[in-house]
Amino acid sequence: MYDILIIGAGAAGLTSAIRAAQRGKKVLVIEKMDRVGGTLAITAGHLSGASTQRQFNAGIQDTPDSHYDDIVRICRNTMDPIITRKAVDLASSTIDWLTELGYSFHDRSPAIIHGHEPYSTARTYFGKGDVHPRIQEAGQTILHLLLPLWNEQVKSGNIRLFTRCKLKQIMVNKNSVVGVVAEQGDHEFTFTAQHYLLTTGGYASSPSFFENFTPGISRLMSAANPASTGDGIKAALQIGAMFHGADKQMYTLGGIELQPGSGRINFWEAWARMSNSIDRKQREIYVNIRGERFMNEYDWSVDQRERAMMAQPQKKCWILFDHRSLCDGDSLVPQWTTDQMVQESYREQAVWQAASIRELAAKTGLPQEVLEVTVAKYNESCAVGFDSLWGRTYLEHPLASPPFFAVLVYAYALISFGGLQVNGELQVVMKGGQTIDNLYAAGEILGAAATSGQAFCGGMLLTPAISFGKWLGDNL
Ligand SMILES: Cc1cc2nc3c(=O)[nH]c(=O)nc-3n(C[C@H](O)[C@H](O)[C@H](O)COP(=O)(O)OP(=O)(O)OC[C@H]3O[C@@H](n4cnc5c(N)ncnc54)[C@H](O)[C@@H]3O)c2cc1C
Repeated sequence: MYDILIIGAGAAGLTSAIRAAQRGKKVLVIEKMDRVGGTLAITAGHLSGASTQRQFNAGIQDTPDSHYDDIVRICRNTMDPIITRKAVDLASSTIDWLTELGYSFHDRSPAIIHGHEPYSTARTYFGKGDVHPRIQEAGQTILHLLLPLWNEQVKSGNIRLFTRCKLKQIMVNKNSVVGVVAEQGDHEFTFTAQHYLLTTGGYASSPSFFENFTPGISRLMSAANPASTGDGIKAALQIGAMFHGADKQMYTLGGIELQPGSGRINFWEAWARMSNSIDRKQREIYVNIRGERFMNEYDWSVDQRERAMMAQPQKKCWILFDHRSLCDGDSLVPQWTTDQMVQESYREQAVWQAASIRELAAKTGLPQEVLEVTVAKYNESCAVGFDSLWGRTYLEHPLASPPFFAVLVYAYALISFGGLQVNGELQVVMKGGQTIDNLYAAGEILGAAATSGQAFCGGMLLTPAISFGKWLGDNL
């Protein structure tokens, strides 16, 4: 009999398996893909936590209370207070643990990061190589830190792993899980253990989850791990678990659908930097499907920008700029040089180029007259240095030097906000409020809204995934 059955081997599952096995527990892990790591293969890997050794060394005064208060401020108190409290309290030991394991932090971290609504203190951590264009390695850096510990426990026999093995059903008798049914190829197995831990991640790659639980989404655009299909949530729902938070879904800015109709955004291949005006001055204007501007493109608040974009029909807009703006350096799409942007415009799939605004409207399908008025008004604002429409203060780039360009971008799902309700011990809570004695959950399966509310709070998904996995591994 295994002590713990862990379902899903991403950040939360790997960490809990390692920590439990290090205590001599017999751990069985089932993973539906052919390798472990889950979303660690693609995550940006930003972590956040207060009162860490690194902050202490840098003379930064910070506390879990301040971290908590910042989260409350950023998400307007829409997170789960018990789970968030636990997450901020555990975060420093997680980051210190990674430090002890040899994680080579970037000299600049901890820092205040502006990719999400900024914290008031430098408490976001990232690795040495984790700066553009190598930021993609961030999660992999964490994975490579965990793998030797994992391999050691697999070798010792404390961890047994089944890959390509997919959870189908949880079996419950009275108040306990008595087994799970999983399939591996054509074979079906029933696995049993003393404790069961659901770490199957989120559902941000599942259009049907969004159709069923998230109002107002016409077509899901996703940059999530394709394996994030909410399997663990589905199995838990079948036994009466409480699911909440999907209505708090937030979307990330600047997704470029390189293959129209695919619904997929590759965050690392191409994304438009429209999430803040601090890391990059926004020279462009944004127009919605009506051809109208809908926000101050120079707004400093990431959160305001996200909300403005999410309110647009189909959560999409066109980013418009002229040739001078294109050639000014500091590319809108960091993966593309000026020449690549021009090449993309020849494909006419995600980027278009035209000699006039009228022609650009014809090519993109935007209403011609409205678009011409929008651009004329914006150019007038640039001439007088005052934007009466949206109050934009950075007005140095009128759309005046042809050719003109339009990039079609979407607000897209990177992570899912809905998830299983758990109590302070991370036990899964049923719809009637009772818990199942031996069923626990950790990681994105809890939903981003649990620790981030209806907003993006930097590092508040990956850090709790590792912290909660670690805590369960230490305590079950
Ligand atoms: C591009 C990107 C960037 C991100 N950047 C950040 C960031 O900077 N900071 C941050 O805090 N968060 C970030 N996130 C979110 C964060 O990385 C994830 O929430 C976190 O890694 C999820 O860890 P997890 O262990 O819960 O799930 P996962 O890592 O997704 O692991 C779940 C595992 O379960 C397996 N599984 C699924 N279904 C089954 C089944 N039926 N049976 C068996 N196994 C199954 C999956 O194959 C997978 O291996 C980002 C996410 C993305 C996509």
